Amino acid sequence: MPEPSDSDRRKAAQLSREVATRRLIACVEAAHDVWFKCQYCGMERTWGRREMLSRRLRKHLGWTIDRVQRAATCPMKGCSGPMPIIRLMKGGYQDGFDRSDARRRRAWLVETLLDAGIMPEEAGLTWSARG
Ligand SMILES: [Zn+2]
Repeated sequence: MPEPSDSDRRKAAQLSREVATRRLIACVEAAHDVWFKCQYCGMERTWGRREMLSRRLRKHLGWTIDRVQRAATCPMKGCSGPMPIIRLMKGGYQDGFDRSDARRRRAWLVETLLDAGIMPEEAGLTWSARG
């Protein structure tokens, strides 16, 4: 099989506009995980809520998926491939409330951030959704 060209790789990594402009913090709020696949070695990894709220990633919570993709390189030793394929996946979380209730969801998010020791402002969260 021929090695894919740069333009093939760009095409494979292309994000829908909706995904590209989504911030990590919004993925946490929506209970989505971020799935990556390296286009060079095939390594797959997933950022779940725990990773996104970790000390390593919390400073990027305000980043869009597009920015994450441009900054990401494969963590596999000797690979470091750029431009992973990214998909948002429904995480299997049981949070015990109705996620379609925006106000309840936002209150949950603020609480979750504070529990993790993160100030909501640091995560790029605006307060406009509060009633
Ligand atoms: Zn790789």
